[in-house]
Amino acid sequence: MKASVLFAVFEAMPFVKTGGLGDVGGTLPVALNAVGADVRVILPKFATIEQKYRDAMTHMTSFTVQLGWRNQYAGIEKLVYHGVTYYFVDNEYYFGRSYPYGFYDDGERIAFFSKAVCEAIPHLDFQPNILHCHDWHTALSPVYLREVYRNVPACQNVKTVFTVHNLRFQGKFAGTMLGDVLGLYDCPPARDQLLQGDAVNFMRGALNYADRLTTVSPTYAGEICTDFFGEGCNDIFNRRRSALSGILNGIDPEIYDPAVLPTPFDRDHLEGKAENKRLLQQRLGLRVDVDIPLIAIISRLTDQKGLDLVNYILPELLLENAQLVVLGIGEKRYEDTFRYYGSRFPEKISANICFSEDLSRAFYAASDMVLVPSLFEPCGLTQMIAMRYGTLPVVRETGGLRDSVQPYNQYTGEGNGFSFRNYNAHELLDTIRRAIGVYQQDRPAWDTLVQNAFHTDFTWTVSAKKYLELYQGLLKN
Ligand code: ADP
Repeated sequence: MKASVLFAVFEAMPFVKTGGLGDVGGTLPVALNAVGADVRVILPKFATIEQKYRDAMTHMTSFTVQLGWRNQYAGIEKLVYHGVTYYFVDNEYYFGRSYPYGFYDDGERIAFFSKAVCEAIPHLDFQPNILHCHDWHTALSPVYLREVYRNVPACQNVKTVFTVHNLRFQGKFAGTMLGDVLGLYDCPPARDQLLQGDAVNFMRGALNYADRLTTVSPTYAGEICTDFFGEGCNDIFNRRRSALSGILNGIDPEIYDPAVLPTPFDRDHLEGKAENKRLLQQRLGLRVDVDIPLIAIISRLTDQKGLDLVNYILPELLLENAQLVVLGIGEKRYEDTFRYYGSRFPEKISANICFSEDLSRAFYAASDMVLVPSLFEPCGLTQMIAMRYGTLPVVRETGGLRDSVQPYNQYTGEGNGFSFRNYNAHELLDTIRRAIGVYQQDRPAWDTLVQNAFHTDFTWTVSAKKYLELYQGLLKN
């Protein structure tokens, strides 16, 4: 049976992206369709979606979604983009805002979207046999599908898959929401699965209800069964081990392509990479010298990304003959630290506290290394994107970083980056120093690593086939 999959996700580039979820939401459906699935995507119609896409949408239908005592309007707008059909859930009150997340009523907005996804199924021009939900923003959909929509013919036989992209964010709210907003207080199974102490936990709903659970790397799938990484849900992962698997994310090589930069290059013509470095140094006011190793951080600025380690070693890193460029937004303490060092040492550190796709590509293209020393990392795309630009990742061996970066072996010359094991600032510093050492003293070895990075295949093809196998296994049951 062909897998007809409705992808419910809060981010999909080019419509909306705040991090890796946006990359995955926008590129995995294309890859899945290429290997024989029929995947369509449903996501909120955010006010931030560019006008050209909004103009191209056509109104399909509308209905109301009941949330406790509220009856809320939901419109469905359709757009076909790069061969993939997108359904946008329209509600100005919930989604007509300047950013996808971070509002006092996020719980209600997300409950609305999760329920609207199920409510939409009978109204679509498409009958899914699988509903594939991503992260806590869609974690109530498997619950609603089973508890509220199980007698609706279009929903009855739909199987569910839930993918954890980041377990840190689970959607925990006051327990009173269960009745007042979710309308599930009178449903004992849902109540039992969603309540955690006095709080309602959306993510636990999907972890208990979905037919299959996946996460975005094999290593992370093992890690989340432990206390440290399980974020309070390891009990469920251990109980549901046979339903859980890890499939590594990929990237779209056309979206991240050094050959289409204003100053292009590829693995056989690296002069362009050096020119990108010179141009970025000039643009950011750093000393212009292509022989100085240029280290980049392109990241959400949160503790997950290992920035405490970076902050700790910054004074020592300044003593190295290297430059650091930072691109990110997030927690104020990190933004302030990078701003401070950037203003004190403008020839060595450049802090760019903003979100910019263009600047990120300029950083990937120009840098020699990218730092990803995460505390935990479900998959991580930064290291994969970096390698696409011949930039070597320096990572901590956790989650998908461990599954995608092969550390340099000085005896065999193998590897496509550098890594360290423990969450320790000086292990990070030693590893950066080691990388700088190879860059400055053994250029042939460095050049081999760069070629290895260019040749590492991070396209979606392998992973898309694994998802397809999972779908087909599920449809046989
Ligand atoms: P996460 O999803 O945890 O943020 P990933 O490594 O999976 O981390 O994905 C991060 C994505 O967001 C990458 O595409 C990276 O280039 C991009 N990114 C992060 N910060 C910025 C920024 N400030 N400007 C542009 N792109 C950014």
